Amino acid sequence: MKHIPFDSTQVFIGGRWRACDDGRTLPLADPSDGGELTRIARGGATDIDAAVRAARTAFEGGWGALSAAERGRLLLKMSARVLEQADELARLEALDVGKPLKQARADAVALARYLEFYGGAADKVHGQTIPFANGYTALTLREPHGVTAHIVPWNYPMQIIGRSVGAALAMGNACVLKPAEEACLTALAFARIADEVGMPAGAINVVPGLGEEAGAALAAHPGIQHISFTGSVAVGALIQAAAAKNAVPVTLELGGKSPQLVFADADLDAALPFLVNAGIQNAGQTCSAASRILVERPVFEAVVARMAERYRALRIGPALDDLDIGPVISARQREIVMGYLEVVKTSGLKVAAQAPMPASLPRGGYYVPPTLVADVNPAHRIAQEEIFGPVQAVIPFEGEAEALAIANGTPYGLVAGLWTRDGGRQLRVARKLQAGQVFVNNYGAGGGIELPFGGVKHSGHGREKGFEALYGFSSLKTIAIKHD
Ligand code: NAD
Repeated sequence: MKHIPFDSTQVFIGGRWRACDDGRTLPLADPSDGGELTRIARGGATDIDAAVRAARTAFEGGWGALSAAERGRLLLKMSARVLEQADELARLEALDVGKPLKQARADAVALARYLEFYGGAADKVHGQTIPFANGYTALTLREPHGVTAHIVPWNYPMQIIGRSVGAALAMGNACVLKPAEEACLTALAFARIADEVGMPAGAINVVPGLGEEAGAALAAHPGIQHISFTGSVAVGALIQAAAAKNAVPVTLELGGKSPQLVFADADLDAALPFLVNAGIQNAGQTCSAASRILVERPVFEAVVARMAERYRALRIGPALDDLDIGPVISARQREIVMGYLEVVKTSGLKVAAQAPMPASLPRGGYYVPPTLVADVNPAHRIAQEEIFGPVQAVIPFEGEAEALAIANGTPYGLVAGLWTRDGGRQLRVARKLQAGQVFVNNYGAGGGIELPFGGVKHSGHGREKGFEALYGFSSLKTIAIKHD
């Protein structure tokens, strides 16, 4: 077993570390070699109940009594601590998720930046005064919901905890975090940091466990006032149904089939790294992965050839070797991706390039060959379904209207990218793309912590990241005072 610098089998509730109520644990796999990395708690309904109660106590007590500035200062302290521990956090995330170390380190830095951004924002959320009838003064206040639930996936634990828990805490909510059963070490490390900087007990509670046990218990708990969920469309629908029973608001960040549109006048040298990296980063397990590359006919062959060249140069290996791509998260995810590669083969699609798979890869690791598929019909499964692996479909188009029809022709609408030097087209196309975020002549804006993020259509609703998230994690109260 690899060294984990703390007992990973515990839950963190009300400022205390303990085993879960029935003492059960789950194995945590090391995606790089398929061995057991460590064990984690298998939290259940009674642990979730204790966590929700602890959060409520914190909300009504020590945590709730802090001023906005004091909350902000604590988040800034956490941010500084995260940066101090960035190397260790990166190692944990790399081991747990299978992502190359430098990508995991970028995630740790992003977590620190989220805490810095939301720490700084905590005392800057203002209400309004409203010109109402004579004799009245009317005003609005932003108030925390109370206890917020955060159900996060395994692909970017640190980043998603930062954007979701960070914003919720800034607004004064007390949080219950259910990390994914496939990767939860940095969620536990996050709780340790909260403890170290003196976060009041119960402001942050962490209960690892299975989705259908701890996750479902948390989503259905009547003591929760808001749910933030990031994950699959299918589970998102279950979460929304559970929230409906308790009439609580939800933020759903679901999947995507995000396109990048390359017009013939684009700066291809600038576009090329973004076209490939945004597809294969984190072994393609990114909700905003650019899994479809739409290319205007005159430059189609050139773009495919240049992307193929990059694919052939990709280096794949264990997370700690810190190459370009690691394994996918699990044997199940590997099976799913390999199933899609089988579909590519049986449909007679053209594989433009595959990255070489070195013979030295650890046998049990969950590696899949990064694959570029060219000339894909936009209606084909490979161009419609979220694969969540390092597989990109390149699709030709002719003119703006066809580009938009293809780009908007999936059930998803999370992110889109657009490469063109034509200023009019930049705005025209950006405004017609069905997506929560559109990037022009870039993709992803290096993480874009300050930029509101979320989807339309099956990609979800509600916005996280940026200042906008603070509105989602609060409710608006209107006060009308009659004084004349
Ligand atoms: P998932 O939906 O299976 O799991 C996500 C989380 O939900 C995990 O913590 C899991 O334990 C929990 N969960 C599972 N079943 C549950 C249930 N019945 N009740 C309550 N909680 C439950 O998704 P995944 O396989 O972990 O992640 C892959 C999917 O997530 C992909 O579709 C991807 O696009 C999406 N994703 C979206 C974003 C985004 O920001 N939009 C980010 C990351 C991942």
